[in-house]
This record gives sequence, C-alpha cells and structure tokens, in this order.
Amino acid sequence: MRYTKAMIDTKEKLASHLTLTQEEEAFDYTDRTALPLKIPSHFMALINADDPTDPLRRQVVPTIREMEGEAGASLDPLFEVEHTKRSRLIHRYASRAVFLTTDVCALHCRHCFRRRFTATAQGAASKEEIDEAARYLADHTEITELLLTGGDVLTIADGALEEMIGAFRAMRADLVIRICTRMPAAQPARITNALVEMIKGFDSAPFYLMVQFNHPRELSAEAIKAVARFIDNGIPAMNQTVLLRGVNDDADVLQELCNSLVFNRIKPYYLFQGDLVEGTAHLRVPIARGLELEAELRRRLSGLAMPTYAVDLPDGGGKVPLTTHYLRGEVQQGVWEFENPEGERRRYWDPPTDRSSSTPR
Ligand SMILES: *Cc1c(COP(=O)(O)O)cnc(C)c1O
Repeated sequence: MRYTKAMIDTKEKLASHLTLTQEEEAFDYTDRTALPLKIPSHFMALINADDPTDPLRRQVVPTIREMEGEAGASLDPLFEVEHTKRSRLIHRYASRAVFLTTDVCALHCRHCFRRRFTATAQGAASKEEIDEAARYLADHTEITELLLTGGDVLTIADGALEEMIGAFRAMRADLVIRICTRMPAAQPARITNALVEMIKGFDSAPFYLMVQFNHPRELSAEAIKAVARFIDNGIPAMNQTVLLRGVNDDADVLQELCNSLVFNRIKPYYLFQGDLVEGTAHLRVPIARGLELEAELRRRLSGLAMPTYAVDLPDGGGKVPLTTHYLRGEVQQGVWEFENPEGERRRYWDPPTDRSSSTPR
C-alpha cells in the first residue's frame, strides 16, 4: 500500500535517522514477543533528532525498559478476552461494543495497551468474522454504538472497509459507529476524500472519528487537514490522549494540546491513565500527579477543552473517571459542602422535601 512507503521498521533504518541512546540501543530487536518497531515517515519527520528526550520519540522508539518485568502487570488487564462474545467482538458495556477490525497499525505506540493483539499477523477480520459480529449486534439491540478499532481500522483498504461497514449497516442501520484511529497523527496521507466520501455514503446513522493526539507537535498541518476532511463532511472528531511520562505529564503541554484540539474542532474526550500493561511501566504517571494535572487543567481550560481523566481498572473493572473531590460531603441533612477549583468552600442546599414531586414519566 502506498502509505506504508518509507516505513522505519528496522534498527538500521532507525539508526540512520537518530543516534540511539544506550537504552534504545539495548532493546532486543530479535525478541519475537516484543512489539516490533514501526514508525511511518510522516511521524519520523516530526521527531527532533537532536533531542534524545523528544516527546514524540518516546512514544515510538523502543527501549530496554519495555523488557523489564512488573509484578501485577498483564497483557490483558481489561479482561478483553473474557468479554469477547464473538471472534474480535468485545462487549463489556451494555450500550456499546468493540470490533477489532485488524491487528495492523500504521504506527506502533510503545504505550500500546492491546499488545496481546497488535501486530500478531492475523490481518483484517474475515467475512465470516464480520458477519458473525453483525449477527450478534442484530441480536443485541441494547448496543447503540459500535467502535471500529484494532489495530487501526484505517489500515484497511477502502474497498474492504466499505464491505465491512456495509455488513454492519445491513444488520443495524441505526448503529452509531466510531472510527477509532491514530492515522491522522501517524500517516495523514491515508485520509483521502475518497475514504471520507465512502464512509459518508452510509448515512443512515452518524459516524464519529475518535483520534489520538498525545502532544501538540503531533497536530501537524497535514494531520489537521486530515481530521478536517471528516469534520467538514459532518463527522465530529473526539480525541483520546494517553497520559505519558516524559511526553505530556506537564500542565503547559496538556493545556496547549487541548486548546489546539478545540481550535481545530476536535473535542478533548478522554485523558487516560496508563493501563497496567506489561512493558509500559516506564511510560506511566503516578495517579497523584495525574490528579494534580487534572485539577490544574480545570483551572486553566474551558469546559469544552477539558477532557475527562479516566482509568480503566485492572481485572476488567472498567473505566472510572478520576477527579479532585470538589464535593466534600453532606454536612447536615440536605446541605452539601463543596470546595471549588480555587480552594474556596461553599454550601448548597436541596429543595424542601415536603413540596417535592417527581417528574412524571
Ligand atoms: C473504552 C471502551 C468502550 C467505550 O467507552 P466510552 O466510555 O463510551 O468511550 C467500550 N468498550 C470497551 C471494551 C472499552 O474499553
């Protein structure tokens, strides 16, 4: 495929772009169980080669630290395997399901939380797998949203993707479909007018574009244009950032990222605490620091620019929002004490109970 040209996928190619640090040099490129190196040329060009601590470099260049063991970390902390109801179909929350369209990505993120599946050479879902998943969705009308992810769904060629979406639409014309992809950051040239036109053709229900930008420098002119193609065609864009040590664990960086996203019509949706996935401990940020950053962002950002900081709990516990406790408690019957982001206390009281009546349904 055209967009995989000039891919950096060997240590030799990497070394022709960057002077490897000791930790980068020590990564075992022969280890078949490790997530392989994969950096598309577009992303490589965004890296400042003179800075060994470059925040984009940290996301994509492997180091020996990925090989450190960690007690309690797992390859499937979200218990996705247990929640797999049909091949590649994960149904963890009643109202939405996840379909792993392919294990292929344009870019291998070193913080990948699905490395049990990513780059395992299985390729795109077969017609049988798609049809089985579509039948499950037909039987489960409580599902209102389908997340097409992987891997990266946009590594699939337009024709095959059109068949896949068509199969889901044939069974559930009413399903909101989320296109979950890192392609605008990784290889924006993949996002053509033809691709967006094809998706737009399935207009019986809305699509949402779910992207991942972790640092303001990933919002290149090409990336912004790629996302704008979707938005201009009526497909809203949401961003999911992963909180990463040495990448974006800084209030100024996150503030700039969120404001740039809003300026480019991309809603900051989630700021994710790193999952307890093997080989990613060195990229995780302590929760106390994450909470500090969340509180600082709430003071600095508009409501529109503020993402929800969330953790996906181990052993399949699911997503839980993380925030400072602004609500201090019920100090007397029906009287609530709050502390606002500036640290001031205020009280709010409930309506008198005798006159209350519930809204008729
Ligand atoms: C995160 C996730 C979703 C989507 O959750 P939202 O909070 O609706 O964005 C759905 N299914 C699984 C398994 C997930 O991990």
